[in-house]
Amino acid sequence: MRVGIIGGGIGGTALALALLQRGIDVHLFERAPAFGEVGAGIQVTPNAVKVIRAMGLMDALRAISFTPQALVGRNWKTAREMWRTPLADDCPSLYGAPFFHVHRADLHALFAARIPAERVTFARACSSVARTPTGAVASFTDGGTFEADLIVGADGIQSAVRASLFGTAQARFTGNMCYRAVVPFDTQPLDYVSPDSSFWLGPHAHVVTYYVCGGRAVNIVAVTETASWIEESWNVPSSRDELLAAFAGWHPNLLRLFGQADSVFKWGLFDRDPMPHWSDGAITLLGDAAHPMLPFLSQGAGMAIEDAFVLASCLAAGATVADALSAYEAQRLPRTRRVQLESRERGRTYHLSSPLALWRRDMTYRLRSLINPHRSGIKANWIYEHDATLPPEPAASAA
Ligand SMILES: Cc1cc2nc3c(=O)[nH]c(=O)nc-3n(C[C@H](O)[C@H](O)[C@H](O)COP(=O)(O)OP(=O)(O)OC[C@H]3O[C@@H](n4cnc5c(N)ncnc54)[C@H](O)[C@@H]3O)c2cc1C
Repeated sequence: MRVGIIGGGIGGTALALALLQRGIDVHLFERAPAFGEVGAGIQVTPNAVKVIRAMGLMDALRAISFTPQALVGRNWKTAREMWRTPLADDCPSLYGAPFFHVHRADLHALFAARIPAERVTFARACSSVARTPTGAVASFTDGGTFEADLIVGADGIQSAVRASLFGTAQARFTGNMCYRAVVPFDTQPLDYVSPDSSFWLGPHAHVVTYYVCGGRAVNIVAVTETASWIEESWNVPSSRDELLAAFAGWHPNLLRLFGQADSVFKWGLFDRDPMPHWSDGAITLLGDAAHPMLPFLSQGAGMAIEDAFVLASCLAAGATVADALSAYEAQRLPRTRRVQLESRERGRTYHLSSPLALWRRDMTYRLRSLINPHRSGIKANWIYEHDATLPPEPAASAA
């Protein structure tokens, strides 16, 4: 079997490596002239760690990671804790794997550096895909083509493969934009940034901060509501002043951290509904191309990594590409759909502003934390429990 992958982001490189590990012939096409990742942090939650471990990369992952103590919800102005979900001590026993923070470029390199150079073509942008009598063909903007038994679109949120298969879905602007920055430090940990994944919740806005690069830098993701935005891009340049102005009046520890950010980018948050299918003949989608999601449960990369492992396993096990793709969709569609919809819902909860709604939300966080901290806060325990490396549960038989 020969597989063509369009897109060499986290999902595409994870798939290429997972296929190579199973002895499947693969070639990856990336439109950029070289592998590269934007400067930002990423939370690698236990569900994604289980996959990375099954790929034999646990020691390499540990070497680039920071282990947070807890997921902590704080009031935007007073820093008062609303919830505290222990991670470092609890995740291995509860979910079977630790919780890590890493820099995106380090996570990407974990996969990309293990793909032989002859398996990758850079500076080749896919323009369309089509079925053939025996498989599929990808066409590129330089006029070239590539035929394979299967073509996988791992080409991100603006996927050309998805557009070619299913048309251009209208993305809905959510009314939120996001500032991001990574602030490097010589000394750590800083006395004004706790070693946690901190969620600061305020009216119409929230901020997430956590250490990356083994603790030598802090990642900032600051989301705020805005009336207008035109571009769906990670890389619109912003500035420290713009970030500080957007969060004026927030807790001094946060503003002190923002004051150290030399390089700030901004990003408009767009949303799309879950799709009913990802495949057409011998063409399918993976990662953001299949299920773009809001970042409020920190699962975009995690879902792409799970997709990669499951698709590779289905291809290795399936009698035909059609069997493999139907097993892949059966395992991945329901899970990613739920993550997409719950991420959307978290955005609403984090940004509540009416005093009554806030009081109710914060009381719920505190009461739930007293009963079970893992079912409070961002309520992602059902995501972390999942193990995509295990065979799927047999479908319940009809009574
Ligand atoms: C602020 C922010 C914070 C986030 N935090 C987290 C987090 O904590 N945890 C988490 O799991 N996820 C997080 N995510 C989401 C996560 O980063 C993405 O979901 C993930 O990178 C998707 O991977 P992908 O491979 O599907 O797509 P991408 O990483 O976008 O890769 C797509 C690749 O395809 C290439 N490409 C595009 N078009 C073409 C074409 N036509 N031809 C050839 N190549 C093409 C691109 O150059 C790119 O290399 C976050 C996202 C944001 C924005």
